[in-house]
Amino acid sequence: MAFPLFRNFHVALQCRYSTSNIARRAIHTFREVRPLRTFRKELQGSQRTVGFVPTMGALHEGHLSLMRQAAAENTDVFVSIYVNPTQFGVNEDLDSYPKTWNEDVEKLQALDKELATRTGSGRITAIFAPTTKVIYPTLPPSSEITGPGSFVTITPLGSLLEGASRPVFFRGVATVCMKLFNIVMPERVYFGQKDVQQTVVIRRMVKDFHLDTEVKIGHTEREADGLALSSRNVYLGARRREVGVVLSRALKAAEKKYLQGKRTRADILWPANEVSTSKMMEQDDLPPSKRARVEVDYISLADPDTMEEIKVVDAAKGAILSGAIKMLPLEEPQEGEDCGLGGGVVPVRLIDNIILQPIN
Ligand code: AMP
Repeated sequence: MAFPLFRNFHVALQCRYSTSNIARRAIHTFREVRPLRTFRKELQGSQRTVGFVPTMGALHEGHLSLMRQAAAENTDVFVSIYVNPTQFGVNEDLDSYPKTWNEDVEKLQALDKELATRTGSGRITAIFAPTTKVIYPTLPPSSEITGPGSFVTITPLGSLLEGASRPVFFRGVATVCMKLFNIVMPERVYFGQKDVQQTVVIRRMVKDFHLDTEVKIGHTEREADGLALSSRNVYLGARRREVGVVLSRALKAAEKKYLQGKRTRADILWPANEVSTSKMMEQDDLPPSKRARVEVDYISLADPDTMEEIKVVDAAKGAILSGAIKMLPLEEPQEGEDCGLGGGVVPVRLIDNIILQPIN
């Protein structure tokens, strides 16, 4: 009788031992929900915390900086790589969205090695890379606003700004994040300020649905000239890349006015509009072989909690300055020109923002 008991105890010890050690040796990749849940439950019993970074892959320094933050605050970092179809409208760039699985895994392994050298740092423990059938088990996902399916909607927040230009976007984001949070059950979730409206939507969802996780926001990683890093930047090519920096310059010009003490919408936004309009005019005047035409979708000055447009900034509360531009397809590409992935035919939408911090 004593032997089986002893054996069970031994097996239990082995399980515990193997979970912590396997997790430290290799990054686990999960494609299904059940094995991930089993693994996650084993971590739960041993005082380990999970910081979760949802991504659509095509990883860059912006993603990696969120993972570093997650590793500094948790023992285990889980990363999801999933291009979520329901956040793309019917005519958007779902099919052409960059997919770089091998490079992504290499970047995660390199980051994990780097984290291993830091005392007390968490590690990249798991990648969740599900198929669409796993994430949407009942119905094929719909990108129609009236389409069937189980969705999370956050209104009116999800219909403003980015949501006005992309009506299904935040429904798709909130829905997939709800699913991912339910699967991973992270102590903390990490989002980039680069997508500021997304951070407001996720915070609201976590609050309103009483989700048991803490939302953490990481700063925007930028190129040296100010262009915010984005997976879509690979489509720009040199000519459009140079002009694309106009958005961050326009927002900076507006921020400067706020820091100089201006508080009205007109006083803060006029320099941003001037910077973008003069760039548009400059490009329109160039010959098609030299120019990169750009359209402004919006430049916004909004309340930090509701994202509603405001006329005056309450300095005690601050505000969100944000904008979106569209880099139009390249005209008359030249022999040997760097036109970016896709040869310059894909229009590229760029977004950016600056938080106007409260001033007491
Ligand atoms: P995505 O793969 O584009 O869905 O982005 C995954 C996460 O990375 C989101 O939380 C983004 O806000 C964040 N992210 C994207 N670009 C940047 C950036 N330049 N700096 C910091 N975080 C970013």
